[in-house]
Amino acid sequence: MICKNERCKKEFTPNNARQLYCTRDCANRAKSYRRYKKNGYSANILNTCPRCNSLYQPKRYKQKYCSISCANSAKKIYLTIPD
Ligand SMILES: [Zn+2]
Ligand SMILES: [Zn+2]
Repeated sequence: MICKNERCKKEFTPNNARQLYCTRDCANRAKSYRRYKKNGYSANILNTCPRCNSLYQPKRYKQKYCSISCANSAKKIYLTIPD
């Protein structure tokens, strides 16, 4: 049986008929890789917030700030810059 993880493809002996991946870990990696390909980010990749420089896990595609309060205060700064 060949592991269904396209980045693994290791030969393994399944413990049960429904096992598709060589290990549980490999199944999780394949799942997050599929999500990465679909959404453009991986659940295991951290972003840096441009406002407070803290690392955070983006919950949706194109999330820029770690939290709503950071996004809001960044917006406020932008709005209060005098020209
Ligand atoms: Zn595998
Ligand atoms: Zn932040």
